[in-house]
Amino acid sequence: MCLLAATTGFSQDENLPKPELTEVWEPVPKIVEPSAKPGDPPSDAIILFNGKNLDEWMSPKSNGPAQWTLSDGVITVKKGTGPIRTKRSFTDFQFHLEYRIPANITGSGQARGNSGIFFAATGNGDSGYELQVLDGYNNKTYVNGQVGSIYKQLIPLANASRKPGEWQSYDVVWTAPQFNDDGSLKTPARITAIHNGVLVQNNGEVKGATTYRGNPSYKKHGPGPILLQDHGDPSEPISYRNIWVRELK
Ligand code: MG
Repeated sequence: MCLLAATTGFSQDENLPKPELTEVWEPVPKIVEPSAKPGDPPSDAIILFNGKNLDEWMSPKSNGPAQWTLSDGVITVKKGTGPIRTKRSFTDFQFHLEYRIPANITGSGQARGNSGIFFAATGNGDSGYELQVLDGYNNKTYVNGQVGSIYKQLIPLANASRKPGEWQSYDVVWTAPQFNDDGSLKTPARITAIHNGVLVQNNGEVKGATTYRGNPSYKKHGPGPILLQDHGDPSEPISYRNIWVRELK
């Protein structure tokens, strides 16, 4: 045994397969320049909101420009104007967003800082799959509707909520459902979600489009926009910033 083998523990026995046989050199992963600051978009991200304008968003309610308030680099829900959604549609992707529950939040349960992120939302906030946004700091509600849940479906693995008034982050990996030609489900949607750096959904299997009443089910769809909910509850509206997506081919 040579010195190298003795050091590394790998045998140099000629009768064993060459280690090179299990080295893979192609395809070479593409180069993505990471951001200088964690949470900021890497080089291949599509910037959905960087504090400057709402050009990537529209209002499905008015079928016109997004009407939420843009101030100091932050967008805030403007109650009554309905949700906003991306103009672009997506299939599989990595997604990042930051939100803030107002420090002076009032109400309780589902009526305390309720918004949400809907994936593959083709309608006016009444379709798609909702990752819940809600104040989760000392705010009791049903656990499959708390922050970090896939609403009424998947209970989060942890409650990593920060206090109202502090910025919080979501990082999501979304795998879209696939359908057969006859419209039946081939493979369900899957979601991994990290809330403030804590894993809250671990490749969870989504049971169907989000529904307030009854059981979720799937209906065939293609690529869809990402929608932010105007829940309309009586508490103070919540704010968003630093929103980007990386499409996964
Ligand atoms: Mg909601």
